[in-house]
Amino acid sequence: MARFVRRLGSALLVLIVFLTGCVAAPTAQERQFTAMDTFMYLTAYGPQAREALALAEEDILFLDDLLDVTQESSQVYALNHRTASTLSLSPELTALLEQALLLANQTGGAFDPTVYPLVQAWGFTTDTYQVPTQQTLQALLPLADHTALTLTDNTLTLPEGVQLDFGGIAKGWAGDRAVQLLRGCGVTSAIVRLGGNIHTVGTKPDGSAWRVGIEDPDTGNTLAAVSVTDRAVVTSGSYQRFFTRDGQHYHHILDPDTGRPADNGLTSVTIVGDCGARCDALSTALFVMGQERSADFWRAHRDFEAVFIRTDGSVAITAGLKDSFTLMDGYTARPVEVLE
Ligand code: AMP
Ligand code: MG
Repeated sequence: MARFVRRLGSALLVLIVFLTGCVAAPTAQERQFTAMDTFMYLTAYGPQAREALALAEEDILFLDDLLDVTQESSQVYALNHRTASTLSLSPELTALLEQALLLANQTGGAFDPTVYPLVQAWGFTTDTYQVPTQQTLQALLPLADHTALTLTDNTLTLPEGVQLDFGGIAKGWAGDRAVQLLRGCGVTSAIVRLGGNIHTVGTKPDGSAWRVGIEDPDTGNTLAAVSVTDRAVVTSGSYQRFFTRDGQHYHHILDPDTGRPADNGLTSVTIVGDCGARCDALSTALFVMGQERSADFWRAHRDFEAVFIRTDGSVAITAGLKDSFTLMDGYTARPVEVLE
């Protein structure tokens, strides 16, 4: 009898360990789709994950329809092809434009949502690449000017010829909304990958931090990783969209001062912070600014961290990443400067 009780006891223990094991490691729910001209890959854990991910996907597709500069049915297309100079914007577009203008002001126009006529001149929105003449760029440069916009409540006034492109901020903003939706559904562990924009909710199901890889711009291999919880990690790089003409590399991040692809000694900038839209706009802006101006900007704000990969392959990180940044195998000899 005593042996039977002991056996029953150990059988129960095995059952309990098995059951608690199930609770501790919930299965991942995933959704993969294409939107905003990029691949989206959403993973969440827990009982609410499936429904929450469906809502997040729906929202991202809704935002894509709203913002797609090439889609005649989108609100941004209608805005860019307007016949009046004053327009009423939807609540979503108003909220996004407010953030975009704030970041354009803060970065002195290095991030500028009015860059669209220049982006179009290079053919980046339609993949019909061309190198515009200096004369064309000179004619378009005055149109890239966020200070020409007036947004009062949801009423936007803008001069003729000025056109908007949210390509430098939209994915970060969409990620913020996805994270908000997931959290609202009770999800406490998730990772949302929207192209080069990664958003994390909480920790991994086992309680450890998420490790987000940073790509080697030259090979596409993972050069380094940052450990994060509840953070966005957003990368802008000259390797993400480009074309070559006569041996020259032309990429999609334009310097609004010159109208040409920014060429300030960097191949990628990764921003780590708690607001995805801000991280996204800053990754674009800091790429334009180059490392020295970016470091000054970081010292003045200190509400985000950054990883810079320079054209010579060397790396610089801001001081707040000292403990969470690691070089991957094969890259441990890379010089890493810590900016203080
Ligand atoms: P990202 O990949 O976030 O750096 O954004 C690059 C995209 O934003 C480009 O494909 C353009 O659509 C747009 N863009 C390019 N240069 C700028 C800029 N200086 N400011 C704002 N948006 C830009
Ligand atoms: Mg960006």
